[in-house]
Order: sequence, then structure tokens, then C-alpha cells
Amino acid sequence: MMRMTVLASGSKGNSTVISSSRTRILVDAGLSCRELLKRMAIAGEDPSQLNAILITHEHQDHVAGLAVLARRLRIPVFFTEPTHRAWVRMLTPRTTMTYAKWLDHIQREKEARAAAVAANAPAYDIAAEAASIAHISAEAASLDSGLNLTRSIYAGADPDAEDSDAPDASDAAPQKTDPTHLPSVEYFHSGTQFSIGDIDITPFTIPHDAADPCGFVFSSDGIRMALATDLGYMPPNVKVALKRIDVLLLESNHDLEMLRDGPYPWSVKQRVLSRVGHLSNLATAEFLQKDYDGTATWIILGHLSESNNAPELARISAEQALSNHPTLLGNRILLADQATPLQPICL
Ligand SMILES: [Zn+2]
Ligand SMILES: [Zn+2]
Repeated sequence: MMRMTVLASGSKGNSTVISSSRTRILVDAGLSCRELLKRMAIAGEDPSQLNAILITHEHQDHVAGLAVLARRLRIPVFFTEPTHRAWVRMLTPRTTMTYAKWLDHIQREKEARAAAVAANAPAYDIAAEAASIAHISAEAASLDSGLNLTRSIYAGADPDAEDSDAPDASDAAPQKTDPTHLPSVEYFHSGTQFSIGDIDITPFTIPHDAADPCGFVFSSDGIRMALATDLGYMPPNVKVALKRIDVLLLESNHDLEMLRDGPYPWSVKQRVLSRVGHLSNLATAEFLQKDYDGTATWIILGHLSESNNAPELARISAEQALSNHPTLLGNRILLADQATPLQPICL
């Protein structure tokens, strides 16, 4: 048995539950913790059964509720290392440093590294990376945040109390929490298969303007489900990854004319249209017509733009592409929604 439940899809937040008979994974946490819990309840997914959170990339619409949810549920978060670093940088407060403070910063960082080596611990180097970004008298990430992160990774779980979403009485001790603190962090590498419980996961690189963005193929019990959104075009590696898929969540972001005539500023239109932006209805249709092998029982069109697309345009475009292959008419198309969870799809 495998199940896919899309909790939300679109530029205001993305999150999907992938389950086997034994394992449950939340892919992305792009809504507030409160909203994610609410949607899981609506969709009949039990948050306490989640084993892990898996992140595609660090854009806000994929990570908005990540830290609070992971701390609440006390479950590990799986990232690629560049995505984790980018996420930490995003949340790390930046301060202006004087030259003297910067020298002090470098010295403390050296000492922290030496201490890590002495303790035979892996030298996690967020602080060093932050320092390398900081030029003398320029903006720099604070060392404290880097060290707190190091502690949070290697010292294990320490439930936070700052969560304003719905405080847990047991965590009520006032404590200034590092916003990047997670119960535990696991790294995976794009292109290298790994497992969470009885679900095998193959991450593949997608072309998108993030640090190290990924799509995923999940397989368990001989069933394969894939998730590919936030990609500027369909490169060969993604076409290969999306073979023999039973349930496919695929981006169909915008209608080209609606985007062209729509409200976005020109620079944003350029970004969406670029090779590291988002898939248009047309690009998705071209993939379905030319490269798709037709094996999916369900194709879910996702990450639809609310400003530059209409669900019926995305649906018609995909249906027309499939209708050019009479053998593919058994493929059923669903549209993932921004505001409400989709009915779970079970195979
Ligand atoms: Zn996105
Ligand atoms: Zn994105």
C-alpha cells in the first residue's frame, strides 16, 4: 500500500504526505505549523504518525512551518546539505560588525573548530561559512547562531518553548530558542537513493533558483510515487526519473499568456519563465505528449499559480496532451489546490 495526500500546493505553500503501510513522510512544510496540523486532520492524516520531514528546497512556500512542526513532533528533517545551509542563512539574524568584533568572531570560530576536533566531533561549519560571507565592516551572520546550530545538531533534541502556534505545557519554560534549531538533521544527496522506514527515496536534481533543489521518487511495496514541482524546464535527468511512476505530482504552474498579461512585475515574470523558474502548462503538456511513458494511474497537476493560471486551463492542456496517445486515456488527472487538501490517493 502507498498513499499520497497533497495538503497544499501553490506559491503560498506546499506540503504532501507520502505513506506506506509502515512509514509516513511529510514532504515540505510550506504552511504554518497550525495550518499543517489542521489540514492533516481534515485529510485524515495523523501527525503523530509522521516519521520524518523531507525538504525539496529552501523557498518559503516549502519551509514556512518547518522548524516549529519538526520541534513539535520531534521528528528528523532530511535536507541536502546545501539546502540546510541556505535555510539556516535565511533564518540567521544579520548584524553589522566592526573590524574588532570581526577579529573576535574569527578567533572564537577557530576555538570552536579546535574544540570540535578535540572532541572528535565532526566539524560542522555553518559559522565558518557565515564568516566567509561576512567581509570586514560588512553584514555578517552572528556567530552565536552558528554555534547554537552546531549544538542543536550534535546535542540532540531539546524541545522548544517559543512556539506561539499552540504551546505545549511541558515545554513552557521560557527559553530563547534558536529559530534554526531542529530535533535532528539528516543529509541526503541528490541522485543517491536512501530509505526512511520501508520507503525507498530517490532524490533527483531539478532546475530551479534555490541552493540544491530536488524532486523525489518514493517506492514501497512495488508502488512508485513521484513529486516534481518548482522546475524551470524538463531536463533529461528528470524525464528519466519520472519513468514507471504510478502516481505523479507534476508542476503545471502558469499559462504563458496569463503570465505575460498578468500583474507580476517584469523581473518576476522573467524569473518564472526562466530555466530556473516554473513549468508552464505548455511545458508540462509537451512532457506528457513526448516523453511521458503513460504508466501513472493518477497525474496530479500542482503548484498552479493563482495569478497566472486557471485550473481548467491546466487540466485542458494536460488532457489534450494525453489525448494524443489514445492508450493513455486511462490516466486520471487531478488538480492540487492551494486552499484545501486533496483526497488521499491510495494504491
Ligand atoms: Zn514552490
Ligand atoms: Zn521554489
